[in-house]
Amino acid sequence: EAKKGGRGELRFFSDAMNAAAHDALVIDGALRHAIAAGEFRLEYQVIAEAGSGRLGKVEALLRWRSATLGTVPPDRFIPVAEDSGLIVELGSWVLEEACRQAALWRGGPLDGVRISINVSAWQLADPGFVALVEATLARHGLPGALLELELTERVLIDDGPNVRTVLERLRTLGVSVSLDDFGTGYSSLSYLTQFQLNTLKIDRAFVMDIEHSARSNSLVHAIIAMGHSLGLQLVAEGVETDGQARILARMGCHYLQGFHIARPAAPDQLLLFAARRPETASGAAHTIHST
Ligand code: C2E
Ligand code: MG
Ligand code: MG
Ligand code: MG
Repeated sequence: EAKKGGRGELRFFSDAMNAAAHDALVIDGALRHAIAAGEFRLEYQVIAEAGSGRLGKVEALLRWRSATLGTVPPDRFIPVAEDSGLIVELGSWVLEEACRQAALWRGGPLDGVRISINVSAWQLADPGFVALVEATLARHGLPGALLELELTERVLIDDGPNVRTVLERLRTLGVSVSLDDFGTGYSSLSYLTQFQLNTLKIDRAFVMDIEHSARSNSLVHAIIAMGHSLGLQLVAEGVETDGQARILARMGCHYLQGFHIARPAAPDQLLLFAARRPETASGAAHTIHST
């Protein structure tokens, strides 16, 4: 508890900072063995077509169950892995695992569903990144069209010119690129024309207030209109209510992702989910409800 007065506050902040630094050190130590120890797995969250509710694509989300720390959420360990550079190795594991899974899904109800994976700046800046993507797809016999990469605005500013070339090369592989968490971060609209993007993912922060805040509503409406005029696909993140889903569909948002549609789930659960709701040409009756 912070006490009033200079000394007390100083101590409070310094303890908090020490604790955070200690946490990061502990996480960093545990991360180093985690890949080899098989402590990671991927969950997949449905990204549904807004009108029909059909399963359009899935986002792979990294899960870590540490032998020593228990379950650690990505928001806690991804920044640590980015600081140490371990994210490159971890990201390669994610790419490999997602492609392995996509190959297993071929010929079943999830055949043709695109997998979207999150990619950090360090990975994209790695000179071997595009070759790794190409080799991983080839090893699993997958067309590039089954893979999408989610980047944040941070990635685009960090290494502008190089990123542009990398995105062009990915496009020639048929791999799609989406801009994640759009509207947070740096949000320079020039990114939208400077880089070859396929999809904008509207951050949850805007979606969550869409029913009750006229400003959020207007903002999301404007982002969707802008996306349409630039020929981009739009995904709304963090859709938690039926009201939000309806508003977003009416605004012309192409895809919805969020707990209202489905929570991130293990591959087997996703397979059941897809098998229960076979794709049909007119899927209006197949709106996916949260479980
Ligand atoms: P993100 O890429 O924006 O992923 C969406 C996050 O929102 C996920 O959190 C997901 O579980 C959560 N989410 C989805 N729908 C809802 C909803 O309706 N309400 C709420 N409150 N949350 C929802 P998660 O899995 O904890 O991941 C957090 C972040 O960690 C991700 O945000 C992404 O930036 C990062 N991350 C996750 N996996 C990876 C990975 O393999 N590589 C990298 N570099 N980053 C990853
Ligand atoms: Mg993402
Ligand atoms: Mg996001
Ligand atoms: Mg996020």
